Amino acid sequence: MFGLKTDWSLDVLPRYFSLEDYQGGMARWCPGCGDHGVLTAVQRICRDAQLLPEQTVCVSGIGCSSRFPHYMKTYGFHGLHGRALPVACGVKSRRPDLHIWVATGDGDCCSIGAGHWVHAIRYNMNMVVMLFDNNVYGLTKNQTSPTSQPGLKTNTHPRGAFLPPLNPSLTTLSIANVSFVAQTVDWNPPHVYATLKLAFEHPGLSFVRIFQRCPVFTPLVFEDAQSDPSLVMLLEDENGVTADAAGIKMYKNRVAHDPSDIDKAREIVSREDVLPIGLFFADPNRPRYEMMSSVGADTTIEEKLETFDKELDRFAI
Ligand code: SF4
Repeated sequence: MFGLKTDWSLDVLPRYFSLEDYQGGMARWCPGCGDHGVLTAVQRICRDAQLLPEQTVCVSGIGCSSRFPHYMKTYGFHGLHGRALPVACGVKSRRPDLHIWVATGDGDCCSIGAGHWVHAIRYNMNMVVMLFDNNVYGLTKNQTSPTSQPGLKTNTHPRGAFLPPLNPSLTTLSIANVSFVAQTVDWNPPHVYATLKLAFEHPGLSFVRIFQRCPVFTPLVFEDAQSDPSLVMLLEDENGVTADAAGIKMYKNRVAHDPSDIDKAREIVSREDVLPIGLFFADPNRPRYEMMSSVGADTTIEEKLETFDKELDRFAI
């Protein structure tokens, strides 16, 4: 009638997402900051996996690296200091279908957020946690962080930090139900990409410590490892990080490491004579809290409301 179309079904065209589809605002990190390369790697992984931007969430706390969600054209939550992980766990608990990337720094995660860090590792919800470790509080302009090396002069320790630094990967490997720990260096983009891709594909919480250059406040901390690749120890295994040859050919110091061996992983990650990178440990079969929390008691909405009403009735006057 009246020549109107009677079939109202929509033709949904297949979507292809380019790199630009994941690029948010212009990154305002300093020139030479290691955060730029990590951002590019994550955007490339999203593009290569064709993640739906509306099903991808970047969560952060406070710090230079925590500006990460602003630079991704996905959902994002720039939270409170140290609180990236409880927010990310909350999102995953209710929406296990979403892809979660967490950006946190050594101050954010290992100091004020340390309690949340421990429990998030144990909860083992499926997400990638990127620890941007530049050994200093950068956003607040140069205070000692839990990973600052002894002797580092900062505003809080002008004569040099004097406590032994925390080793975040060793700490993580000591937490019950840990399921994935890896390390990479921001100045090797192929290795960053390969490490984060492996982390993304792992079913469970993947903790990746990224040694991240801060040319403003800690320009020298990784200088030795940068100028002498023999000080970087590359872990190799068929199930580990396999960056393309161009990305790793400068690393001659290589050791085979079985990532199912957690005792060996702890031993290697403790070494201070070299900077070990690659996959230390992975167990895809550890229990994941979102598998239970998203299902809950497996009750209908009506049953939940009935239970809720009964509870409230207990307080009726
Ligand atoms: Fe990066 Fe350091 Fe600048 Fe912060 S202060 S944006 S960590 S270079």
